[in-house]
Amino acid sequence: MARIFHISGRPTWLEIDLDAIEHNFQHARNAVAPGVALYPVVKANGYGLGVLPIAKRLLACGAYGLCIATIEEAIQLRAAGISQPLILLSGLSADIAEQVAAYHLQPFVFDLSHIHPLSRAARHHPITFFLKVYTGMGRFGLLPEQLPEALQLIRTLPGLSLAGLVSHLACSDQPDHPDNSRQLHNLQQLLIQSGMSHGQTSLANSGAILSRPDTHFSWVRPGIMLYGASPFFPHNHGSQIGLKPVVSWYTRIQQIRSLPTGSGVGYGQTFVTQRPSRIAILPVGYADGYNRLLGNRAQVLLQGQRIPVVGRVSMDSIAIDTTELSEVAIGAPVTLLGRDQEEEITAEEMASWCSTIPYEIFTNLGERVAKYPVSSCCS
Ligand SMILES: *Cc1c(COP(=O)(O)O)cnc(C)c1O
Repeated sequence: MARIFHISGRPTWLEIDLDAIEHNFQHARNAVAPGVALYPVVKANGYGLGVLPIAKRLLACGAYGLCIATIEEAIQLRAAGISQPLILLSGLSADIAEQVAAYHLQPFVFDLSHIHPLSRAARHHPITFFLKVYTGMGRFGLLPEQLPEALQLIRTLPGLSLAGLVSHLACSDQPDHPDNSRQLHNLQQLLIQSGMSHGQTSLANSGAILSRPDTHFSWVRPGIMLYGASPFFPHNHGSQIGLKPVVSWYTRIQQIRSLPTGSGVGYGQTFVTQRPSRIAILPVGYADGYNRLLGNRAQVLLQGQRIPVVGRVSMDSIAIDTTELSEVAIGAPVTLLGRDQEEEITAEEMASWCSTIPYEIFTNLGERVAKYPVSSCCS
C-alpha cells in the first residue's frame, strides 16, 4: 500500500524504493569477484524512475561511477554535484567532444573518425576513454581490422588515455545462447592482438553479471537488475532471482459511474457492460506511460483485489470495473504496479500484458508522473 498519502496536484505517482535499489546493487556486487568494479547504468533518467536520488544512493553504497547515454544526462549529474567517473555508453560524435572534456566524461569510442576530435578536445587535460569493439552484436564498434589503425592513432595523438576495450552482448538474457561465448571469444582475441589484456575491459550487463562470470573482466554495467526486474524476462521474474521490486505506481479513483447492462465504456465503446456495473475512472493514461495495449487486458489492485481495466486506455484516464467490490470511494488509492496486501503486479507481468519488456514499462513512465524516492534509512 502507498507509503505516501498526501500528494498535491494530480494523484498519480510513483514510489521508488531506494532501499530495494541498494539491495539489488549488493546482489550485483555479490555476483562478481571482489576486484570487479560496478558502474551502474542510470541512462534515460535512471530507466525512467528519476535519476538523481538513485544515482546518489548508488554512489553512497559503493558504485565506482555511473554509466549514462547522453551529454544532457551528464550535465544533470554534474550540476547535482556528482564528481565520480561518468561513462558515456552511447559513444562520441565530433560535435560533443568538447563537452566530453568539459564535463570530464569517459566516452566509449566506436569510430576511427572520432579519435582526432577527441585528441583536439583533450588539449587542456587528458581524456580517459574506452574503445568499443565489434564482437558480433550487429550495432556499434570498431571492426577488428580497424583496431591496429586506431591504436596507432591513439599512440601518436596527444591527450588520449585509453583505459581499455569494451563491448556489449546481444543475448545475455539467454545465458546459454551460443552468441555469448562467440562474442566473448572475439573480445578475448582482440585483447590479445591489441596487447590490451590488462586494460579496464568491460563486457557484462545485468544478464551476464548474473549468469556468466566469464564475462565480468574488470568492471561491469548493471542496469535493469538494479531496478528490480529480471534481465531474463520472460523466463523468470526479479523476485525469483533474489531481486527486490523498486517501483510502485499509484493513483486514486476520480469518478464512479453506475451503468446499466449494455453500456459502452470509453473510446470506440470497446467494452460493453454485461450486467449492471460500477465503473471507476482513474486519472492515468497513455500519456503517463500506461500503455494503450493494456486496455481490456490489464488489472489493477484495489482493496487487495485484482480488478480489470475495461475499455480503451485514453491519454489521461482509464476505467476499471469495480462491480465485484461491495463498496468503493472516490479518492481510494489504486495500485497500478506494486503490492496491495497479498496481491502484486510486477513490471514483468505488466510487460507481458502489452508485449514488451520491463525496460520499456519503466522508461515510458511519463514525465508528469510525480516520482517520490522512499527509504527507511538515512539518505
Ligand atoms: C543499457 C546498457 C547496459 C545495461 O543493460 P541492462 O540489460 O539493463 O543491465 C549495459 N551496457 C550498455 C552498453 C548499455 O547500453
